[in-house]
Amino acid sequence: MGKFKKITVPSDGEKITVVNGKLKVPDNPVIAFIEGDGTGPDIWNASKLVFDEAVKKAYNGKKKIAWMEIYAGEKALSVYGKNKWLPEETVDAIREYTVAIKGPLTTPIGGGIRSLNVTLRQVLDLFACVRPVKYYSGVPSPMKAPQKLNIVLYRENTEDVYSGIEFKSGTDEAEKLIKYINKNFNKNIRIPSGVGIKPMSEFGTARLVKKAIEYALSHNRKSVTLVHKGNIMKFTEGAFRDWGYKLAKAEFRDKIVTEDELWSEHNGKMPEGKILIKDRIADSMFQQLLLRPDEYDVVATPNLNGDYLSDAAAAQVGGLGMAPGANISYSTAIFEATHGTAPKYAGLDKVNPGSVILSGVMMLEYIGWKKAGRLIEKALKKTIKLKVVTYDFARQMKGATEVKTSEFAKAIVSNM
Ligand code: NAD
Repeated sequence: MGKFKKITVPSDGEKITVVNGKLKVPDNPVIAFIEGDGTGPDIWNASKLVFDEAVKKAYNGKKKIAWMEIYAGEKALSVYGKNKWLPEETVDAIREYTVAIKGPLTTPIGGGIRSLNVTLRQVLDLFACVRPVKYYSGVPSPMKAPQKLNIVLYRENTEDVYSGIEFKSGTDEAEKLIKYINKNFNKNIRIPSGVGIKPMSEFGTARLVKKAIEYALSHNRKSVTLVHKGNIMKFTEGAFRDWGYKLAKAEFRDKIVTEDELWSEHNGKMPEGKILIKDRIADSMFQQLLLRPDEYDVVATPNLNGDYLSDAAAAQVGGLGMAPGANISYSTAIFEATHGTAPKYAGLDKVNPGSVILSGVMMLEYIGWKKAGRLIEKALKKTIKLKVVTYDFARQMKGATEVKTSEFAKAIVSNM
């Protein structure tokens, strides 16, 4: 009997370990997966087929993922019992096995948990939400030149107005807090009002910005843009910008140039081999991504801006059906679909598994299995180009062949 109650650790796999902050990945790593609710099982089965075939092809059968099912959401209720939306051993297993991938989860209504995703991010301190947004040729998009957008968003995941410190209008707590602020800080907040607190720290900002710059350097990206609303919220969003520049100069001095330095020291010409650190105000950034998308590359931003910006950017390249994501800390990482459970299509083998498949591509890259990731991406591109797509794309494409979730996966495999 292993140490988990309901999780079966595959006997043919080995643990991914972390040595000096770097992942050490065996040829048969145990990787945890959460199938997800609603359309999750359809999407997961399709995605798993694609992952396994790509790994087999890329490494001639020498590498193989040992999948370990862990439970959250509705499936956890049926395995662990009432109210067990997120069993403790699920969190323990992710912590112990370092890398996990998940389908979408139903958000419990009432009962204390705000959202399973938000809870997972908080308990595992997955401080960076990473969303690459780029265009795959043939995907229906509202833009004239969607291919010009190719960014990777790093959204801070643990602070800002998402910290859940909110008080309802008319309650004693809200009134107490408002009176305290009005009296001690000479402010004039109306009573009754709802109030929320927006904490942002140098610690939280620096670790996020550091991840973003490290990514830019290791992936030959040209710039990192700090997106903030610091003109209005000077000590939170403005501080994010200042701390971001400070971190960049302190830790990457010989590898970066700030936008100010670009003009004051380099006459506007970017020195070879360095990355540009710039900042934009959030509202202007929405325009910039529409009007001059090719001027942006890696983007680092606080929690709420990141939430808005990642969905808006995803829409430019064809929507959430193809938008992958990851939540990462220093080593622990959960790769995930960015869309929800689409419950009305549950069990119909109908929806687009692209988001989880591309999240898997990110995961393969994360564990250093880049070749397998590239195989999948190439085959996916080819499949879409051939207009073999699920309903969501088929209805917007002329001459498309509409296929089921499982058939789409098989088509990707045959195009590998
Ligand atoms: P949703 O993303 O599940 O669905 C909205 C619509 O988007 C669907 O009706 C469908 O038309 C389309 N869609 C979504 N995924 C698709 C796919 N893979 N292929 C094709 N079309 C797709 O959002 P919702 O209806 O607001 O939420 C349903 C449930 O999912 C709720 O319980 C919600 O809390 C949860 N949710 C979970 C996550 C997550 O786990 N990351 C994210 C968002 C919502």
